[in-house]
Amino acid sequence: MQETYTAANQSEMASQAYLRQLRATFEQLPNDIPLYLFTAKGHDDVFTQANRQIIRAFRELSDKITLREYDLDHELAKKWNVTSSPTLLIAPEQYSIRWLGAPMGEEARTLLETLILVGLGKSQLSDQSLNVINKIDSPRNVKVFVSPTCPYCPQQAVNAVKAAVELPQLISLEIIDIQCEPELANQYSAQSVPQAFANDILIGQGAQPEEVFLLSLQKLEPQTIFIPESDAEEVETDVLIIGGGPAGLTAGIYTVRSGLRTAVVEREALGGQVATTPVVENYPGFTSVGGKTLVDIMVSHALQYVQIFQGEAVMDVAPGNPITVTTNRRKFLTKSVLLATGASHRHLGVPGESRLSGRGVSYCSTCDGPLFKNKKVVMVGGGNSAVTEALHLFHMGVDVTLIHRRDKLRAQDFLAKQLFDNNIPVLWNTEVKEINGTERVEEILILNNKTNETTTFKTDGVFIAIGYTPAVELAQKIGVEVNADGYIQHDGKHRTNIPGIYSAGDVEGGYKQIVTASGQGAEAAMTLFEDLINPYWLN
Ligand code: NAP
Repeated sequence: MQETYTAANQSEMASQAYLRQLRATFEQLPNDIPLYLFTAKGHDDVFTQANRQIIRAFRELSDKITLREYDLDHELAKKWNVTSSPTLLIAPEQYSIRWLGAPMGEEARTLLETLILVGLGKSQLSDQSLNVINKIDSPRNVKVFVSPTCPYCPQQAVNAVKAAVELPQLISLEIIDIQCEPELANQYSAQSVPQAFANDILIGQGAQPEEVFLLSLQKLEPQTIFIPESDAEEVETDVLIIGGGPAGLTAGIYTVRSGLRTAVVEREALGGQVATTPVVENYPGFTSVGGKTLVDIMVSHALQYVQIFQGEAVMDVAPGNPITVTTNRRKFLTKSVLLATGASHRHLGVPGESRLSGRGVSYCSTCDGPLFKNKKVVMVGGGNSAVTEALHLFHMGVDVTLIHRRDKLRAQDFLAKQLFDNNIPVLWNTEVKEINGTERVEEILILNNKTNETTTFKTDGVFIAIGYTPAVELAQKIGVEVNADGYIQHDGKHRTNIPGIYSAGDVEGGYKQIVTASGQGAEAAMTLFEDLINPYWLN
């Protein structure tokens, strides 16, 4: 009994101390915080009552918080375009931040943060976030769907509040309680919370880290990872890795763990081909994982060690001591370079392919597949990629036919079996000779190479997965030797013919599996470590 009393007492003391602290915080805020509540009697009265109670509790903390309540047909409602009851506006003369519903339960935390930020007149965004938000140059109407029982919601709602406080002239925010506004939630298919939309585009499902939310808001598409940008004009490293696929990322983890200063430069999307692979089922540790998800896991892991410069293209590599690598943004002075540049999609090379690329011709079913739902497409190729991607399209509801130039697939039996089990049609011994259409793909000309018969085949899309060609332009420009198949020639330990320049992954040829590329990245990193301790080319 005594213990319970003491515990209750302590908890009461703690909350009194917390309230004193909050009062002191509000005391120091430079700005007043005017709140306007718009209501219509008989409409969601429970939420209106909740608003009044919560605001009363906050007003007891500071007289800087004021509340005015108006009917929904008041002229101020028209001025601020308020149409539903209850709606709470926060400092509407300065900001466009409104609550549809009431900041109950977990959402009281969001309201508290909002009041403090508005009272402060500052967003308190991190420097990295400010770099991102300052790139926004057109209006964003943000909606964040929340519920009072969702503990993750305040994080996402506060991200949006900070954005609205930072850029009041461009960013307007509605925080929408799905219990009070079920119809609006339905309209946006917001069946789980938090969900954030900007200009009616879904930009975030679940709570995102602040920088990731802002990047999604800037790009108007959901982002999963944030890579800090650097404005350094010159970066010194021991190892510069060119290519941010599995080989490059793995090598980065290994070299940094060996104590070597390392940077990764990637001109396109991180993860290389894996990023656009629909599903990966043979990477140990994951029975089945989306390619992009696997990439995000790898990138997050690598970022714990290595600085990544994404969206940066290498223009020149000048051998020497140090080697100077010039990108479109800066210079890297490095002791060694690892070429992990991977491979790019092979093209069919038939008439119409390049003209209709992006107009029905595609090399990425993950990216473009959804556009062809309930439509008819062909998938050209007979290897693991073509079969994996045909299955992906099929499961997406696309009417897909595989076209293969021989009578036997190159793909693994496990994948081939799934193709046949799902009755996906295959045109055997068939070659695509032309892709035709005026604005978009309409049909293809195909040749049966057994019968020599040429026919046309109506289709809305042509997906091409016929292998890859190694990305060796840069290597060849520097003078790195390639073999007869066009892949980088190395000594078995990933050293190229040029001292200080190494290679790893698909650019070397071989099995081209994610796990082998990662393995080659690790091997190359070990060789690099051995060589940099004792640089053979300097002896
Ligand atoms: P691939 O294994 O080289 O297969 C390419 C396919 O395209 C072959 O069937 C080939 O026909 C056909 N082809 C090549 N050039 C052609 C042309 N000009 N016209 C028509 N058809 C043509 O390439 P991939 O399927 O892209 O796979 C690349 C690498 O990634 C492989 O090592 C693969 O094992 C790996 N990968 C693995 C998985 C997995 O393990 N689940 C998934 C995807 C990719 P032929 O058979 O007649 O040569």
